[in-house]
Amino acid sequence: MIKKSGLLALVICLLVLLGPVLVQAQGGLTVNQSSAQVDFPLYLHFSLAAESDVNITDIRLHYTTDRFSFAEVISEVYIEFTPATSVEVSWTFDLRRIGGIPPGANIEYWWTVTDANAAQVETNPALIQFDDLRYSWQSLTEGMVTLYWYQGKESFARELMATAQQTLVRLAEDTGAYLEKPVNLYIYDSARDLRGAMIFPQEWTGGVAFTRFGTIAIGISTGELDWGKRAIAHELAHLVVHQVTLNPYGDIPVWLDEGLAMYAEGEPEPGLLSSLSKAIAEDRVTSVRSLSSPFSAHAQEATIAYAQSYSLVEFLITRYGQVKMLELLDTFGQGSDYDDALKKVYGFDMDGLNQRWRDYMTAPAETGEIMGVDILDHIIVGEKSFLSLKREGLF
Ligand SMILES: [Zn+2]
Repeated sequence: MIKKSGLLALVICLLVLLGPVLVQAQGGLTVNQSSAQVDFPLYLHFSLAAESDVNITDIRLHYTTDRFSFAEVISEVYIEFTPATSVEVSWTFDLRRIGGIPPGANIEYWWTVTDANAAQVETNPALIQFDDLRYSWQSLTEGMVTLYWYQGKESFARELMATAQQTLVRLAEDTGAYLEKPVNLYIYDSARDLRGAMIFPQEWTGGVAFTRFGTIAIGISTGELDWGKRAIAHELAHLVVHQVTLNPYGDIPVWLDEGLAMYAEGEPEPGLLSSLSKAIAEDRVTSVRSLSSPFSAHAQEATIAYAQSYSLVEFLITRYGQVKMLELLDTFGQGSDYDDALKKVYGFDMDGLNQRWRDYMTAPAETGEIMGVDILDHIIVGEKSFLSLKREGLF
């Protein structure tokens, strides 16, 4: 169904006035008004009105988000204006500059205003929530997971929630990793609706995980439940793994991140492992070392990279067990180098893993029919993992 463009423009332009009108003063300096408007998903508009007996000479906006970090990060914006006794200023935060923030993110902001007499007013911090108000969201919370949806019955949401909970149990059992902070899942009714919530929408984007905010946004229509469950398991695993391994010094290799997410989905999609076996036989698989960096954007190569990542994780868990996997994640959480972490936990580096995995894969004769499959294809961009559904035939 195609939305009428006028209606779309109306909802995209919907501005919601948030933030208190306040009066704070020092000497003759008074802040009369402060507000922020959410223009989802691209902008935050801030404005302020102040007056004084003498010229107001300096205005700064300070803001911080609820992104996970190791120290509180407060950004400061110098507002350009002509000094005067009465001023009205505004500043627009173009969220494309920081890669966007997810629905539901909280932004705290305050101003400092100074006049020519060096009188200064700092406004009280105000909180705004970056909500996608184009839809009427309902929510469901269980344990650490809150699921938001706007289309479909509660049974639809409950089924997705059950998948999320099962994924967490499975991850804890097989890897020892569990959520340390709450997460939010935003279920859009379609990939098209989801793209309306993204700052750089791509044709193939089916979901996005904002790991630093603990938020996932996915487009799942009520008729796509099976795909949706897989997508939720996958992205939720990314959030768990990122929470466990988050540290200021380093990240984890892509094959481990994606492999754990694929593993969390449960049984691999039909055809995925047979295509991997075929790739091994034809010597088309890459080394563990090169799988530590973001995968190729080329669909066919990426598919093999995901299959190989799944297989590497499955090999490590099957051969060496849950305790070692948790030890590996904890070691990465301390900021360890890729080779050092593997050596410390398993006694071999990336090349050693590569050799052992190839032996494991080629020892038993594995045959399988190559067949058309739905491929979950992800491309990592920065700290986001984009999820897309590509329906392909033979590969
Ligand atoms: Zn992924």
